[in-house]
Amino acid sequence: MQTTRKIILFSLMIAMVLSFSDCTKKNKVKHHDKTRVVQTTQILREVDSSCRALMLNQQTVMGVLYQQRSGEMKALAYQAFNIAKVMLDKDLADKSVNQHRTIVVDIDETVLDNSPYQAKCALENVRYPDFWLEWCKAARAKAIPGAVDFLNYAKANGVDVYYVTNRSNDVKEVTLKNLNDAGFPYADEKHLMVSTGESTKEPRRQQILEHNHIALLIGDNLNDFAQVFEKKSSGERMDLVDKMQDEFGRRFIVLPNAMYGDWEGAVYNYNYAQPDSVKIDLRLKGLKGF
Ligand SMILES: [Mg+2]
Repeated sequence: MQTTRKIILFSLMIAMVLSFSDCTKKNKVKHHDKTRVVQTTQILREVDSSCRALMLNQQTVMGVLYQQRSGEMKALAYQAFNIAKVMLDKDLADKSVNQHRTIVVDIDETVLDNSPYQAKCALENVRYPDFWLEWCKAARAKAIPGAVDFLNYAKANGVDVYYVTNRSNDVKEVTLKNLNDAGFPYADEKHLMVSTGESTKEPRRQQILEHNHIALLIGDNLNDFAQVFEKKSSGERMDLVDKMQDEFGRRFIVLPNAMYGDWEGAVYNYNYAQPDSVKIDLRLKGLKGF
C-alpha cells in the first residue's frame, strides 16, 4: 500500500474515533460502558503507534532519495574508488611491503546498493529486518558505481579482496551469487567473511592481518575501519574522526550512506528497541539549530 494512502487511512481512522468519542458525549453514554472505552483506547493506541512508525519511515525518504537520485552520491562513489586506485598504486610502489597485499571491503552500501530495499521499507511502512531475507535472496543488488572496476583493477595487480560483512551465514550463498553476477572478483567462500553473530569486524580484520598486508579498508560505516569507533556516542565518533583525519582518503576510503548506519545508532544510544516516540524525540534533539 502506498504511503499516501496509509496517511489518508490513518486520518480517517482518527476522524472516526474522534467522531465516536464526540457521539458518546452527546448521547451521554453511561460511564459503565467500559467496553467501548477500552476499544476506543486500543484503536487510538494502534493508530498512534502506526502513525509514529510511519513518521520514522517518512524521515528516511530523503536519505533514500539521496542514495538513489542524486548525481552527487554517484560522484562521491566514483571519487572514493578513484582515490582508492591512487592509494593502491602508492601502496604497490612501496617495496618495503613483503606480505601478500589485500584490500578489505564492506558489502552493503560499499560495493552493493541496497537502496531498493530501503525504498521498499519506506513505501510499505515496515523496517529492517522485514523483507531483508527476501531482498538478499533475490540477489539483485546493483554494484556501487566504480566498485567493480576498482576491485578488478586490484585483482589484476595481484591484490586479494576480502569482503567483510555483517550479513549472516544464512545469506552467504545468495550474497556470493549477487557479487558474482555483478562482476566482482574473489566472490568465493574464502574471501567472503560473514558475521557469526558478532557485530564487530575486528577479529576478522585481525585474522586477515595474520598473513596479509591490508593496503586499504573501504566502507560506509566507521566501524568498517577500526574497533575504536564501536558503540561510541555521536560526539565521540566526531572527535575520533578529527583525531584520525589523516587516515581518510589514504588507508580508509569512505562511501556515503545517508539511509542508515551506526551514525543513526549513536543517536539512539544504540538502543534500537526504544519506542518510536522516543526515537523521534532523539532525532529531533540531535538537530543543531541556531
Ligand atoms: Mg555497509
